[in-house]
Amino acid sequence: MVALTELQAILDRIGAEMVAAPDRGLVADYIPELAHVSDRHFAMAVATADGQCLTTGDAETAFSIQSVSKVFTLAIALGRLGDQLFTRVGREPSGLAFNSVVQLESENGIPRNPFINAGALVVTDAILHGHKPREVLGEILRFLREAAGEDDIHINKAVAAPEAAHGHRNLALAHFMAAHGNLRNPPDLTCGTYFHQCAIEMTTRQLAMAGRFLMGAPGAARLVSPARVRRINALMMTCGHYDGSGEFAYRVGLPGKSGVGGGILAIAPGRASIAVWSPGLNVQGNSQLGTLAIERLVRAMGWSVFG
Ligand code: GLU
Repeated sequence: MVALTELQAILDRIGAEMVAAPDRGLVADYIPELAHVSDRHFAMAVATADGQCLTTGDAETAFSIQSVSKVFTLAIALGRLGDQLFTRVGREPSGLAFNSVVQLESENGIPRNPFINAGALVVTDAILHGHKPREVLGEILRFLREAAGEDDIHINKAVAAPEAAHGHRNLALAHFMAAHGNLRNPPDLTCGTYFHQCAIEMTTRQLAMAGRFLMGAPGAARLVSPARVRRINALMMTCGHYDGSGEFAYRVGLPGKSGVGGGILAIAPGRASIAVWSPGLNVQGNSQLGTLAIERLVRAMGWSVFG
């Protein structure tokens, strides 16, 4: 067990390296609310198995978690439907961009996995069934607040609104799945709920805290069972970074989920829940410095699941 002072020193060293890094990737610009975020931000937070949370950088600044939210909706959907969910969405890496349409056509409207957009839309559609969007969004927020252990987690409506205006691809995916009988709600209702879930804002520290149930933290089985946690981690490892998932597993060696807001949640099972935020993205749409920072942390701590 590494001393907390040593871990804090490692975090601060990596934080300083990331602040100075010249090549920061490109901030998502498909909506103005994300495009306006400075690429200078960097934050990392580590919640450890013994209940500490150490941070470096802008760890108290809220950012748009975007697709990191897909981990939490998957946990809720599996809790509600169990493995039946996997009749509607697969468990294989896609090898394609997050919003790709082509695979869906050849695979009859069944998305490859719950983390590409089509799959996440199916997951949201599943938990929306029989409920109002407001109720489902309330449930997602309650889950996050309980997982993080604090209430100050909200949806930024100013981010959700332009998502709808620019969401042609997501709507196309939803309509396509509806045509194949793989959507239970009207496409605009499912997409609207999905856009709001993506617009949840959290600080890097809150995100690390919210991920504790995935490292098997004591008491976390109350939220999600250990058997399910193992499976969510497996999906994060194989599918959590879109067509950059293999590269993330190779470089970092941990299950992780990225979002276009520049956040990444990575899990060192039994050891730590790690959140990082740096808005500049690499070509696959994953945080460029975020990936590098987690890679350095995991190397320094010996936390790769591969030893
Ligand atoms: N709201 C984004 C979309 O669905 C999320 C994508 C992401 O974070 O990767 O287009």
